[in-house]
Amino acid sequence: MTASALPETRTALDVLTTVFGYDHFRGDQAEIIDTVLRGQDALVLMPTGGGKSLCYQIPALLRPGTGVVISPLIALMQDQVDALSALGARAGFLNSTQSVPERRAVEDAFLAGELDLLYLAPERLGVPETVRLLQAGKVSLFAIDEAHCVSAWGHDFRPDYLRLTVLAETWPDVPRIALTATATRQTADEIVRRLELHDARTFVSSFDRPNITYRIAPKDSPRTQLVDLIRAEHTGDAGIVYCLSRASVETTAEHLNAHGIPALAYHAGMPAPLRAANQSRFLREDGIVMVATIAFGMGIDKPDVRFVAHLDLPKSVEGYYQETGRAGRDGLPSTAWLAYGLQDVVQQRRMIDTSEGDAAHKRRMGANLDAMLALCETITCRRVQLLAYFGQDGPACGNCDTCLAPPESWDGTVAAQKVLSTVLRLERQGQRYGAGHVVDILTGKPTPRITSLGHDQLPVFGVGADLSATEWRTVVRQILAQGLLGVDSEGYGTLSLTEAADPVLGGKQEVRLRRDVRTKTSRTRKPAAAAADAELTPDAAARMEKLRAWRGATAKESGVPAYVVFHDATLRALAQRNPVSIDDLSDVSGIGAAKRERYGAAILELLAEG
Ligand code: ADP
Ligand code: ZN
Repeated sequence: MTASALPETRTALDVLTTVFGYDHFRGDQAEIIDTVLRGQDALVLMPTGGGKSLCYQIPALLRPGTGVVISPLIALMQDQVDALSALGARAGFLNSTQSVPERRAVEDAFLAGELDLLYLAPERLGVPETVRLLQAGKVSLFAIDEAHCVSAWGHDFRPDYLRLTVLAETWPDVPRIALTATATRQTADEIVRRLELHDARTFVSSFDRPNITYRIAPKDSPRTQLVDLIRAEHTGDAGIVYCLSRASVETTAEHLNAHGIPALAYHAGMPAPLRAANQSRFLREDGIVMVATIAFGMGIDKPDVRFVAHLDLPKSVEGYYQETGRAGRDGLPSTAWLAYGLQDVVQQRRMIDTSEGDAAHKRRMGANLDAMLALCETITCRRVQLLAYFGQDGPACGNCDTCLAPPESWDGTVAAQKVLSTVLRLERQGQRYGAGHVVDILTGKPTPRITSLGHDQLPVFGVGADLSATEWRTVVRQILAQGLLGVDSEGYGTLSLTEAADPVLGGKQEVRLRRDVRTKTSRTRKPAAAAADAELTPDAAARMEKLRAWRGATAKESGVPAYVVFHDATLRALAQRNPVSIDDLSDVSGIGAAKRERYGAAILELLAEG
């Protein structure tokens, strides 16, 4: 029996239990579904992993007609359709990757009313035939996924999203539900305006992702730090590593492979087929690390990504939160780790100065960077800062580096004055230098460059012998972050004073600095997945092993990612409960009617063997 062949009187909760195998709704899901079922528009702001898909999938299964999902993620449509088919729902997609006969088959199914869900790339709505096709069939709702792509200011802008006003114009009576994991007020307002969702009910979830541990570490040799982190805490885990440049993506992937950590690269400069192949391997195989630029990740719904690492500073808190949010969708413990240093600040300030775009655009980028820097330099809970950025508040979390090992702050006024007056002395001689040179002067290092320039004769030469060069770099980084210093726009990364430096130099303003905590990654910490498995009894752990192997083989046979068969959490529940009858299976979260029918016998047989 297919999902939609069930009696009409089904409630949303029936569908949740019978089709998806879950026993209760999370957060606002029930109310959102109810809103759409009543035919009203909705705007849903929910963090990654919050459960947005059910919010349109269930109404699509219940309302007569086909739910049309607009998604920019062409490469993932096949997986989404496979996942729905595995649940017994009837789904298809239309995009440019299909052959004509494939497309025709989906169109015919839609016209015959045989699809519960139809995925469409936004650009298809620019094609008149598509609009005519949709008009010829029956549409139950429109879901606009990744709705923040409509924001011209955002990092994921897709011009095709601006076309989506056609939906309201052509189908005024069909409810629209727009969904995004981006949560600033600004973006939400822009979505409402550009998609003309004026009568939509807005649902804002808590943006907290309590299972993610946020850590921001001082950067010294990022690739070595990354290898240490993976070896200490994430051996065998799937993860994503973000780098700013394509070159650094390639080098980092090579570095990981050379250290025995299976890694793949992904960036916009690679040939499309290779990129697609790497993405597919990351989704299908266990324990692969994807090293990528930010071109990678939107819509990746792999639930068991155990860590997201950033080797370069993200350009905004919003981007950072989206990217780190790809860790731990399954709710199990996960890590977000960022390495950040002086060079990041210099580089980003320079990029903003030299970027094209008007003054307003630069101001906006500058404000984004400042918020990101404030997060890096905070001595209070990272999560509190992150959530505050999205207009939400909460208590200190106990699950971020500043909560777990609170950094000290110290009165850095004198240190800041030393740096600033060094820069001032140089400026007075009409000269500007980068951070390295300034630190050499402060620590009194008589390099050939210093002596040939006569900088060893400056009164500030050697006044900073009380701190090490590393500590001075930390000081420079922080006063740059605080805006007391600027970076030139010619591309050399030289430092200059800003107006904000005046009160500090004049002794009228104190400067608080954070003392970097150089924690070694803890060797005692268990890899997250291993930690969860460790809670199983020996018998259950043995069953877990068998179930994992079975899942791997089954997924491979059907050509789908392992999580489309069952999530880790479902396997663990099976291992723990050791069900002996088909009825027992109904109580396991993540097993709905279709999966019970398809895999139930095999699982019982497998467990009975042990
Ligand atoms: P999002 O699109 O918001 O990132 P998903 O829709 O992919 O999140 O959901 C994240 C995970 O949570 C999925 O694996 C989904 O099956 C699961 N999930 C969603 N709603 C529920 C629920 N009510 N009970 C149990 N699991 C759920
Ligand atoms: Zn915290």
